[in-house]
Amino acid sequence: MAVPQNKITPSRRGNRRSHDALKGANPNECTNCGELKRPHHVCASCGHYDDREVVAMVDEIDIDEDAA
Ligand SMILES: [Zn+2]
Repeated sequence: MAVPQNKITPSRRGNRRSHDALKGANPNECTNCGELKRPHHVCASCGHYDDREVVAMVDEIDIDEDAA
């Protein structure tokens, strides 16, 4: 089994981990509905992108339509 030849000091371990932090999301406000949305993505709440509706939104989907 491969074994490290030298001990990694706490300083070198910290230097390696200095790039491991996760960045937070950077949401924008939707220009149509004002909801926060991911930049360069279609708004999840109203389906608009660049002031156009590109995904048709329905109010409610009845999944149990056949069972009723
Ligand atoms: Zn929106």
